[in-house]
Parts: sequence; structure tokens; C-alpha cells
Amino acid sequence: MEEGAFGGSGQSPALLAALRGSGVTPAWSGPPILEGIGLSRHFGGGGLFGRPAVVRAVDDVSLAVRPGETLALVGESGSGKSTLGRLLLRLIEPSAGDVLFEGRNIGLLRPAELARLRREMQVVFQDPLASLNPRMSVERIVGEPIWLHRLAPASERRGRVAELLRTVGLPPEQMGRRPHEFSGGQRQRIGIARALACEPRLILGDEPVSALDVSVQAQIVNLLEELKERLGLTLLIVAHGLAVVRHMSDRVAVMYLGRIVEVAATDALYETPLHPYTQALLAATPASSPHARRARTLLQGDMPSPVRPPPGCHFHTRCVHARPPCRERAPALEAAGDGRRVACHFWREIAGAGAAAVLPPSDALVRRLALFEAAQRARRAAP
Ligand code: ADP
Ligand code: MG
Repeated sequence: MEEGAFGGSGQSPALLAALRGSGVTPAWSGPPILEGIGLSRHFGGGGLFGRPAVVRAVDDVSLAVRPGETLALVGESGSGKSTLGRLLLRLIEPSAGDVLFEGRNIGLLRPAELARLRREMQVVFQDPLASLNPRMSVERIVGEPIWLHRLAPASERRGRVAELLRTVGLPPEQMGRRPHEFSGGQRQRIGIARALACEPRLILGDEPVSALDVSVQAQIVNLLEELKERLGLTLLIVAHGLAVVRHMSDRVAVMYLGRIVEVAATDALYETPLHPYTQALLAATPASSPHARRARTLLQGDMPSPVRPPPGCHFHTRCVHARPPCRERAPALEAAGDGRRVACHFWREIAGAGAAAVLPPSDALVRRLALFEAAQRARRAAP
């Protein structure tokens, strides 16, 4: 069955199977660059009639980002992905919990250290038009962080902007223009150039391609991938569906109503989703359209309000496998082997029954595996 799944990839099935079985972690294992521990963020509190309407946007989440990896945060709109991303970058303060950057608690940093950290972690937003000042030229938009953080002397700033524009695939001659003179995809390239101007080590892309035409999405995804490999970046990518991130992420964390329900290496997650919510999301992705009918039976009803999430397992009201304990106890995010974690009381029984769509590995993964294999061969050949 393995051979069929790899059809057309041009790679040795044995190699792919071996690397796949290994959890595909060799190039990006190691201690975390960024780590959230018990992070919560509640919004509001001033409800009607004295009853506080608190939204638990993020509820006791722990998650580590490894240096050099692309980690995707996936879940339906309102599940808390953007809030978690902002908490990890300290763009908002947590209601509880801590964030460690390379092992240091960033809540305890001095202002100068925090400023440096702000530079090292940049955000690319969904809507470039809303996040780029319409009155500023591209030269100023991209050059501003260089000036703010004193990353280059004034005489070199223009040359640096030109270089950044070339890096993201825009003609430097157009640096005098304003954002509205560019297409959506080009504007997103400007946003990426501005983020890169800070010489960051980590970029949070908050639905960076969701507002773009499908044809343009792939170009921006490829650009991010390429920049990541070229500049050694770490990427945290927020997306509402599983289709886009399959082709660019090393690991995926699935969120539901403020909690992480499953984290796994991308291929493992797509091939054997363990959590019923992951199974439902996956069955609903276009790439597995034969399973679309199944999706409807896997996911019932709408997402409940985050103001009053269901007790026990938040997902039990929509879960076809729910049983009495699910209404009473919240499942812990427990280890499920190979570094993956899942929050479901019955994942062992459910895993086999899932709509596990066996998709071929992404081109990006195949490319990386080939690079990895070549590097290993070179190492073995060295005297
Ligand atoms: P996602 O990015 O997954 O769509 P968000 O993190 O934006 O989810 O939001 C999670 C929940 O928190 C939603 O119910 C949203 O309405 C709420 N929320 C987010 N930001 C705020 C805010 N600034 N004030 C009040 N509620 C908020
Ligand atoms: Mg969001």
C-alpha cells in the first residue's frame, strides 16, 4: 500500500518509508526556540446583569516551537489561534502562564532585552493592505524598521531596501510606489520584506495567504518556504484549514475552543489523525474530497460559543464518538508516541475508525528528505 501512496514522487519508497517512520525530525530537533507554558488569555468580564461574559480565547495551552521548524496552528475561526500566536510573541499579555524564548522567561526581560526580542520575532498579517500604511512609499514601509532598530547607517538604507525587495521577488525600481499600486500578492510580499527588514529569527504568519487568490497563495507559500530555508527562519503559521499548511509545515497543532487537541509531525497527522476533530477537519479538506461526505457525519453542529464552552471535553457536543466521561472530564493532552500528543479519552479506540485519508507526501517534504539523504550520504562518504 505504501508504494501506491507515493505514486509519482520519484523517490525511493524505502527511503521515504524509513524517514517517515523516524518521525521526520532529524534536521529540526533540539531545544525549543519559543515555549508557551500553561498559557491562558481571557477577554471581557463586563457582561449584562453583572454576569461576566468571559471569553476563554486560550485556555491552559503549552506548546514548544523548535528552532528552524515550520509549526502550523490550525482550527476553525474563533478557536484561539491568533490569540495564541500573539501570546507567544508577547504582543498581548497572558492572563496566566509563561513564555520562554530560548529558555528565558520573556515576562521578566528588561525593556532593552524586550525591544531586541520584538525585532527577532515578526508578524506577517492576513490583510497586507490593513497592515501597511497607505500613505507611505514602499521604501519607507520596508526601510522604517531598519531606521527604528538602527540596523544600517542612513547611507546604506536604500540599498538594503532594494536588496529586501529583490529577496521577496519585487522589482526594486518600484520602491517609490504606495501599497495600493500593487496586487494582493505583491502587497503580501511587501509585508514580508518589512518583516525581514528586522532580521528576525522567527516569523508568525497569521493566515498569511487566506485573503489571496488560490493561484497566488501557492506563490506566497513557496516564498515563505524558500526564505525559511535560505535565512534559517523559524515559522509559526496560523491557518483555518489543513489544506494550505500540509505543503509547508513540519508539525501541526490543532486547536479547538482555546485548547490544543492534537500535535503531531505533519505526515503522521495527515496519515493517521488521532483526534476525532482532526479526523473531521481532514476529511473536510479539498484534497481528500472522496471523504467529504464522511466529513458531515464526523462533525455535527456548529462550534459552541467560547463564552460557554461545553464542560469536560470541549468537543464532545460535536463528536460522533462521545461517551459519558467526555461530558465530565477534560482529557489531558497525553503523549501518543513519536512525539505526538492528543487530548481524547478514547483516542486509542477511535484512531483505527478514522477517515484517515492517505495523501502523498508534499513536494516540500520530498525535497527536504532528498536533501537530508544526500547530506547523510556525504557524511558517510567522508573519510
Ligand atoms: P482564531 O484566530 O482562531 O480565529 P482568535 O484568537 O482570534 O481565534 O479568537 C478566539 C476567541 O477570542 C474568539 O471568540 C474571539 O471572539 C475572542 N477574542 C479575540 N480577541 C479578542 C479581543 N481583543 N476582545 C474580546 N474577544 C476577543
Ligand atoms: Mg485568527
